[in-house]
Amino acid sequence: MGLLTIGAFGRAAKLTPKALRLYDRVGILPPAAVDPESGYRLYSTDQLPLARLVAQLRRIGMPLAKIRTVCGMEPTAAAEAITAYWQQVSADTADRARLAAFLVDHLSRGATVSRPNPTITVRCAAGCDIGAVRQSNEDAAYAGDKLLAVADGVGGPGGAAASAAAIDVLKALELADVPAADLLTKLAGAVTDADRAVRGLSTDDHQPATTLTALLRSGSQLALVHIGDTRAYLLRGDELSLLTQDHTWVQTQVDQGKLDRNQAAAHPQRALLVRALGGGQQVEADLALRTALPGDRYLLCSDGLSAVVDRAALQSTLSASGSPQHTVQRLIELAHAHGAPDNVACVVADFSAAP
Ligand code: MN
Repeated sequence: MGLLTIGAFGRAAKLTPKALRLYDRVGILPPAAVDPESGYRLYSTDQLPLARLVAQLRRIGMPLAKIRTVCGMEPTAAAEAITAYWQQVSADTADRARLAAFLVDHLSRGATVSRPNPTITVRCAAGCDIGAVRQSNEDAAYAGDKLLAVADGVGGPGGAAASAAAIDVLKALELADVPAADLLTKLAGAVTDADRAVRGLSTDDHQPATTLTALLRSGSQLALVHIGDTRAYLLRGDELSLLTQDHTWVQTQVDQGKLDRNQAAAHPQRALLVRALGGGQQVEADLALRTALPGDRYLLCSDGLSAVVDRAALQSTLSASGSPQHTVQRLIELAHAHGAPDNVACVVADFSAAP
């Protein structure tokens, strides 16, 4: 076994003396010997494979504490630990990439993220009705100062618990004072938690799931999350726009040109979801940032409203003057006027300049 000085060993292992001293200090790679007179560290050539492994693990960004663990493992276990580490890095990077894309998109449309208008207030109301046909209500709705949400539970008897659980998890955000810059991250985190809560309701017989459409607010900044076939609409001036895309099988057929809009609306499988909380391998929600303007009226609703009341009727009801509470009542009456074949959940929120 040959002994090398720290300089020679560092050159052979592609590590600086400074790095070698650090790895000695944290116990990853202590020298083979220390000269009793000069105090110089001496390394054995047998240590080169370990030193090269440490250098490579540093290059993939692995933290020192994890490197120490990996270096103490058998090769097979070390390989598994590196795989697990890299999967985590990839998932985190994908999350950050999505967030970066939203921010780029948001800023390119000229919106300000850094200076949201804090002087905007919201008046809102939620309503949830069993409808005229169903035996139970699997929808849920919530309207508060910071959070607006509707959810439509599916998957048998657990459906009602699923929609309630998802909204309950999100309600924690109502208490947190989330800064505008963190809205999307916080909302995305809450959706992951909500997905876990819904999965926790699974039994051998049933796997309940739920749709979710929600807005989280900080001043005039809004973060929108959407999964399933509940919807968000915005009435701005005279224009009513649909802000969400249904995650339904019929919508994928429309997107591919295989069905037109009317065929989709009348299709017997129109309620079949391709994405939901608690269903599928992992949660895949749409996220977006928006800026609320004074005069904006938002509607969140379940398919019990949007599938039976046409867009023109929605628009005229939303355009009529009336408090959010009154408008929610009118929308539920409208669903009943069309037979109310499903549960109906809706939230109406009016944004205005603070006095
Ligand atoms: Mn429904």
